[in-house]
Amino acid sequence: MTDIDLNYDVLVIGAGVVGCAIARELARHKKTGGERLRVAVVDKEPDVSLGTSSRNSAVVHSGINYAPGTERAVLDVKGNAMMDKLCGELKVPIKRIGKLTVALTEGDLPGLHKQKNQGEANGVPGMELMDNAKMQTIQPGIEGILGLWTPTSAIISSFGLTIALAENAHANGVDFHLNYAVKSIARPGKPGDPFEVRSADGRTCRSALVVNAAGLHCDEVSAMVGITNVKIWACRGEYYVLDKRLDGTLKTLIYPVPGPNDPGLGIHLTPTVDGNILIGPSAVYIPEEDREDYRATSAIMADLRREGLRLLPDLAASDFIRSFAGNRPKQTPPEKGGNADFVIEETSVPGFIHLLGIESPGLTSSPAIALKVKDMIVKHIPLTERTDFVAERPGFIGTFSELPLEQRMDLIKTEPEYGEIICRCEQITKKEIRQAIENPLGVRTMASIKYRARAQMGRCQGGFCTPRIVRMLRDEYGYRPEDFFVRGGAPMFAGNVRSEKGGDAR
Ligand SMILES: Cc1cc2nc3c(=O)[nH]c(=O)nc-3n(C[C@H](O)[C@H](O)[C@H](O)COP(=O)(O)OP(=O)(O)OC[C@H]3O[C@@H](n4cnc5c(N)ncnc54)[C@H](O)[C@@H]3O)c2cc1C
Repeated sequence: MTDIDLNYDVLVIGAGVVGCAIARELARHKKTGGERLRVAVVDKEPDVSLGTSSRNSAVVHSGINYAPGTERAVLDVKGNAMMDKLCGELKVPIKRIGKLTVALTEGDLPGLHKQKNQGEANGVPGMELMDNAKMQTIQPGIEGILGLWTPTSAIISSFGLTIALAENAHANGVDFHLNYAVKSIARPGKPGDPFEVRSADGRTCRSALVVNAAGLHCDEVSAMVGITNVKIWACRGEYYVLDKRLDGTLKTLIYPVPGPNDPGLGIHLTPTVDGNILIGPSAVYIPEEDREDYRATSAIMADLRREGLRLLPDLAASDFIRSFAGNRPKQTPPEKGGNADFVIEETSVPGFIHLLGIESPGLTSSPAIALKVKDMIVKHIPLTERTDFVAERPGFIGTFSELPLEQRMDLIKTEPEYGEIICRCEQITKKEIRQAIENPLGVRTMASIKYRARAQMGRCQGGFCTPRIVRMLRDEYGYRPEDFFVRGGAPMFAGNVRSEKGGDAR
């Protein structure tokens, strides 16, 4: 594609949970008067949810952490309340397991009371202070002098939600342009004329309005329209993932009381919806040049290991199955630390809306952020709800291995590929891999299959299933060695190293 390829009413830059939630909210609407609202999402990566939205603790926060009246507090509480309906419609797993914030010493008590007061002011329902004995009824073996119980805290699949929002938005008419790294934004006509959003590889979309939801790069995107007074610093959070052997060990979320200037919420153990436990995240600012440096460092890994063993002394070395990192888009520099409020505003450039510093609780807040952005868009384009919007994600049955045995047997009778296990650790069937390969966005990297089907996420981290998935793609979808990518960038394979007849290929 060259020159002006497509015209839109709204173009969202960034296919993280925030951009995808905005896209789905817009998909729910048409222009007042009946015309279709033309919406597109662009992302520099080959799939949605490859940024911060797949690299976090996946906690639906209750709203105790943020100062009353801030965007973060308001959107967190509102987003939390929207999650059950949203996840129900999109068939995304969510578990309301609650959270205990635990004061270990007298020194933690002022911080704990501050969280309770903030929660009250923010309208967090069901909070309760608990002594040690009461805490034991929720999490046997826990140690602490006082705890704050927030029953609305939950865990979710963060990439599951992002993918579901995107696929549902797409099913309702939103275009997704992937591998579309925005390099420039121009407005060649007079103020009020459409923006031209150009990608690094020369594609251009024209759009009346632009929403910058570019996460770690939101300041760079704003600079493209001349807004240069905003700046983002990346602050890395590293994690260890523990094996599912420990599933059920943690009944709830357990957090320390954060210090006043902590850039995060402190290292904690977090159960995941899939039965693993995360240890982390750390909080270390990283150099400007590479905001997407997701390396796990040996020093932090050693810290996390120590913390894990302190809280779960029976951990074996083999329980630590993987590490990963996610980077917070901070508006506060390293020397200041702490947290700044979200900035969600229409800028001095009319029609250009930007979202800055959407760190935690951006995942929780995403549906509420989407409503807020839609209300900003309505000021330019009056909108009415569509009657033909399909909120439910069709044809998706969840994880096959979690279905009752009888239902599984019935499904195998009609669809034999449910009877063939491809990922042994996670018990993922061939049919589920096929559904992931044939995803509605047409994305076919190994990470796309992993995030959709959960293959390669188990104890062996793909040792068993990766060759089987490769074989499927090769034999059934005609892939050549150069067609395989982990995420994007370099291909997985250098080429064939053996000839058809045996021996080395030359
Ligand atoms: C360690 C950690 C733990 C967290 N824990 C929680 C939690 O438990 N609960 C919670 O509610 N929140 C949590 N968060 C915050 C949450 O993950 C984020 O707020 C949320 O994912 C932000 O979503 P986003 O869509 O704004 O950004 P992203 O997911 O980063 O999406 C931005 C997208 O923009 C794209 N992009 C960037 N530049 C360009 C460009 N030039 N052209 C095209 N595309 C571009 C990127 O590729 C990316 O896909 C955590 C964050 C971190 C880092």
